[in-house]
Amino acid sequence: MFRALLELVITILIAMVARAVLSSVIKGFGAAASNSSQQQQQPRSGSSGQPKEEPRAGELHKDPVCGTYVSEATSFRRQIAGKTVYYCSDACRQKHAA
Ligand SMILES: [Zn+2]
Repeated sequence: MFRALLELVITILIAMVARAVLSSVIKGFGAAASNSSQQQQQPRSGSSGQPKEEPRAGELHKDPVCGTYVSEATSFRRQIAGKTVYYCSDACRQKHAA
């Protein structure tokens, strides 16, 4: 009788510990996930960093030189083989022409 009671208590204790460990692990994963997603949302403005942002149809065009998405309203554009190519700046337009 005493032994059965002891086993029951041990089982409950193990369940409680497992639950606590599990919840702390889940919390840790959640914190890590939110941290990494925050880092991903801030792309470095370096030379090789490509923006994560996807272009919306009919609004943005990719600069073939630096990979920046630029608005259709930009004045930095050029017709190449019947297609309009958009650039973020005059520097990129001249680089692409070279
Ligand atoms: Zn550019």
